[in-house]
Amino acid sequence: MIDFNQQGLTSEYVNLHNSTNESAWQNIRIPIYCLNGKPGPTTLVLGGVHGDEYEGPIAIENIITSIDLDKLNGRLILLPATNVTAVMSGTRLTPEDGLNLNRVFPGNANGSLTQRIANIITQDLIPLADHVIDLHSGGKTLNFAPCVFIYENTGENFQTTLNAATAFGAHFTVFIEDDFSEVMIDDVVKKAGKVMIASELGGAGMLTRDSASLATNGLKRCLSALGHIKSITTPPETKFARLSEHSEHIICDDTCVFEPSVNLGDLLSKGDIIGYQHRLDRIDEPPKPIISKTTGALLCLCGQALVKRGDVIAIVVEIFDSEKLQKSGI
Ligand SMILES: [Zn+2]
Repeated sequence: MIDFNQQGLTSEYVNLHNSTNESAWQNIRIPIYCLNGKPGPTTLVLGGVHGDEYEGPIAIENIITSIDLDKLNGRLILLPATNVTAVMSGTRLTPEDGLNLNRVFPGNANGSLTQRIANIITQDLIPLADHVIDLHSGGKTLNFAPCVFIYENTGENFQTTLNAATAFGAHFTVFIEDDFSEVMIDDVVKKAGKVMIASELGGAGMLTRDSASLATNGLKRCLSALGHIKSITTPPETKFARLSEHSEHIICDDTCVFEPSVNLGDLLSKGDIIGYQHRLDRIDEPPKPIISKTTGALLCLCGQALVKRGDVIAIVVEIFDSEKLQKSGI
């Protein structure tokens, strides 16, 4: 494993043995970087936990190549391609065992490849960190208005988390009820008493100029708010929203082509048409409007035009202003 106390920039691989039909004695090599500056906090930044989400990986690489080590406070531990074989195959899940890295935490030292990656993060990396930033996007099948997630009820870490999340400057800062699954990294980080920041910065398997720029500059601003570097840019305004069990998740009933009538991030009123469901295989069904049953912001749309029964078509979340935020006391 990399020497986490080495001054300056150190890069290495986390080596994991794997054995498959395609490669009997395979060596999986996960890139890891450690940047040590003046004494200060440690932040662990993960990209590529899911292999078809690209904003996080490139933002981390851009930080590595642009940061001024003489001006760095504390330590950054950076993994741009945490699930490296998934990243290099462009798949959400690990190709070798078909598992979802963010559904196998805290991991298993004797488990399959994905379980062992989770175990290393849990046992070797999170204990070193004061803060964990896990950069996601929607992947091929979802497309998010860029947002940073923070959990409610995070106690003494709440203000630090809120400051770092709003410094990121994503279009939305989304509060999530504290009901996340125990098999996610978020739960491990919270139980360890560390600050957890997660994002959804785009999706549909794309990387755009805007999403790449926001990811890189947002990560820099976030690291600034956490005390590592001086910020060079002012964060764009972020809207506060809340994703809860009461948020509207519109699920596809029948395989169809979805034609959106609105754009990601749009503010919707109850009754607005979000788009149309086209059953191109039927002569007896005209395009069917999909209506918003609630008032809020369009946080997410399907990432592909063709959606199947059970897929998410859209997610509408409650918006609230900062005055309401203060009153709610979260
Ligand atoms: Zn993801």
